Amino acid sequence: MMKGTVAVVGRPNVGKSTVFNRIIGERKSIVDDTPGVTRDRIYGQTEWLTQPFYLIDTGGIQLEDQAFADEIGMQVDIAIEEADVILFLVNAIEGVTDDDIAIARKLQKSKKPVVLAVNKADNENLRMSIYDFYTLGLSDPIPMSAEHGTGVAEVLDEIVKYLPDKKLKVYDGMTTFCVIGRPNVGKSSLVNAILKEDRAIVSNVEGTTRDAVDTPFRYEGRDYVIIDTAGMRKRGKVWENIEKYSVLRAVSAIERADVVLFLIDGEKGIRDQDKHVAGLAHDEGKGVIIVYNKWDTVEKDERTMNEISKKIREEFKYLSYAPIAFVSAKTGARVNTLLPLIDQVHDACTMRVPTNVLNDVIMDAQMMNPPKPHNGKQLRIYYASQVSVSPPTILIFVNEPELFHFSYKRYLENKLREAFGFIGTPIRIHARKR
Ligand code: GDP
Ligand code: GDP
Repeated sequence: MMKGTVAVVGRPNVGKSTVFNRIIGERKSIVDDTPGVTRDRIYGQTEWLTQPFYLIDTGGIQLEDQAFADEIGMQVDIAIEEADVILFLVNAIEGVTDDDIAIARKLQKSKKPVVLAVNKADNENLRMSIYDFYTLGLSDPIPMSAEHGTGVAEVLDEIVKYLPDKKLKVYDGMTTFCVIGRPNVGKSSLVNAILKEDRAIVSNVEGTTRDAVDTPFRYEGRDYVIIDTAGMRKRGKVWENIEKYSVLRAVSAIERADVVLFLIDGEKGIRDQDKHVAGLAHDEGKGVIIVYNKWDTVEKDERTMNEISKKIREEFKYLSYAPIAFVSAKTGARVNTLLPLIDQVHDACTMRVPTNVLNDVIMDAQMMNPPKPHNGKQLRIYYASQVSVSPPTILIFVNEPELFHFSYKRYLENKLREAFGFIGTPIRIHARKR
């Protein structure tokens, strides 16, 4: 199932980021945090009543472009475009303001489900103020206090009522991929370069309920679909240049893709934001190919490729399994290496290792390098089985799961990669008590 998306909107200081943190809690957001900047995290996943969903704090999406004066308006537009449900926050202490009314109008027009929460309703007196907010003409206002934690459950109950039961669009027998990366790394150029050569583009089809557009095409007897986000194209560069918004768009493309092409700008080199974007693909368990684009702009000799590869490996340690391709979307150089690589990665993501072969490898690995005892206790591995694909997930039955240390897991992962390849795909290993 595809996770629904909830966006928090409201004027500055109503408590959006406090509410966001309260709902996401300590759970790790899929966008890695930069320490010290609370607002750096605008995107998180959580669940309520077994319903998983994404939460976006639109207050963290800020304009860099002076031409775009209306920041709140932009945030509300993004919420309307991205979210299945909108959590509209107002402030019990300040009452209804003109900005609240303006936001309410926009939301009404959008026809999206809106949950209206009156935050900072810290006491009985303030809770009474919810009645003023009926004038906004939205749903029944729900009092809450993000600071004290009251009313949060009621708000979440209301939100999950509106979360749609969204199914991922399934393309049987086709390999789906998307292209992600910072603004201007060359995503659209690369998509065009891949499609430019003699590819039979079937036709653009509606991706999901969101206005995504997917491009299916056939090449050398195999079928592919490029997962793209039309909203981005429709809005054009100004929106895309809002860094956080572009990260957010990447999430919805990644969710629907088998393989993710993660682009780095060879002209500018690796930037911090690249790490946010790449981490998304890894966390979602997708196949990943690192594409070093704009190779034509790089001054190079025979060592350059190795040196850059080394640097990439250092910067993206968690993507050690991802192959690296050096291309130029502009000149088309080596773009033709990508589709075969995508096939290879897709095959690895969906590979099933027969149980007996898997156990042979695990047992050999164990014999060669037995787990070290911890506090006099010895980990015993009895049996392994691959329980799913995309990403390949291995269940290992042991005497005591707590004894199964990260470093040993890493060791076994490396042995599995040596034996079976698994190029470009994360592998998940879970220990279970037998
Ligand atoms: P944002 O700009 O909408 O994201 O608002 P923030 O989350 O940054 O909150 C603005 C201020 O309101 C901060 O000082 C918060 O501590 C405070 N605040 C947030 N929620 C509550 C609440 O429920 N009650 C009270 N009294 N203050 C709150
Ligand atoms: P996007 O924002 O990631 O979709 O990037 P675009 O595809 O719009 O490309 C941004 C800019 O980089 C454009 O001016 C492209 O012409 C340029 N560009 C893209 N790929 C290459 C490349 O391989 N080499 C060079 N020199 N420029 C490129």
